[in-house]
Amino acid sequence: MNEHTVQRQIPEADNIGTVTRCPACQAPGAVHWARARDVEYCTSDQDYDYYRCVRCSAVFLDPMPVDRLAQIYPANYYAYAPDERSVIHRIKDRLDAVRLQRILSMMSGDDLQVLDVGGGDGWQLDVVRAIDRRVTFTQVVDLDQDAQARAVARGHDFFCGRVEDFASERRFDLILLINLIEHVSDPGEVLSTLRRHLTPQGVILIKTPNMDSLDARLFRNRNWGGYHCPRHWVLFDRKNFTRLAGRCGFAVRRFAYTQGAPFWSTSVLAELARRGWVKVSAERPMTRHPLYPVLAAGFAGLDLVRTRLGGRPSQMFVELVPTSAPAT
Ligand SMILES: [Zn+2]
Repeated sequence: MNEHTVQRQIPEADNIGTVTRCPACQAPGAVHWARARDVEYCTSDQDYDYYRCVRCSAVFLDPMPVDRLAQIYPANYYAYAPDERSVIHRIKDRLDAVRLQRILSMMSGDDLQVLDVGGGDGWQLDVVRAIDRRVTFTQVVDLDQDAQARAVARGHDFFCGRVEDFASERRFDLILLINLIEHVSDPGEVLSTLRRHLTPQGVILIKTPNMDSLDARLFRNRNWGGYHCPRHWVLFDRKNFTRLAGRCGFAVRRFAYTQGAPFWSTSVLAELARRGWVKVSAERPMTRHPLYPVLAAGFAGLDLVRTRLGGRPSQMFVELVPTSAPAT
């Protein structure tokens, strides 16, 4: 047994700044899972530790850098530059649009309201509005102050802050949580909050990394891209995410694995950088490296084939609908 497999008790609640219980299931035990660095944006040389819950197997960062958001989300963070989206991103966006179209087509009513949590300048809500003319109100909740003016100019309401602090009398028919839930310290609190913002017939569409994947296993101790270290704080698989959703008053209506090309690309480039074969820096983050789109295209193709063959790539789409009453 080495230091990476030593079971430990998560520190008691008075140790402020550290996780006291599994953020997914609240169990107190965890084992060390991996150590990683910010290989994408090089915001520090710090090592970050991930732990795996002994009960539900969720993997989480501890301590979470909750008070260093400005450092870990630098000005050149990719989500802040939506106009520079690559061809690969545009193809992915198109596939996501097909999924949104199907969800909207199943909804009744002439007056649909849609909320995008972490929606930035509202580009995704633009897509939703273009798909279905019945969408009459669109709301962004995001921490990015710079995105507010652009979102409002596009006709979206904007709340600048955490979704847990978002208050509204409105009830939404569709809520988008696209690669968001893994960025928060308490995913259960977020889901419970959103349940109150959802109509009884509403749907939450979630996209989040899948720990039960080939690349998560291959690169576990070599800066797996799915850690998006140190920005992904809680990572799930199908089973433990379904359980969390159930405890928050949701049932899974539909589930699908989808390609994790960005995680493969980051993992491979991090390995090449470790060997000194490529250079990544704070000035030129990994997504701007010329090899990145080449790798992403190749791995997107590989994962699409694997998905068709029943494989489990490293991202998952989950559609949640409210159950009659929140589970206790
Ligand atoms: Zn757990």
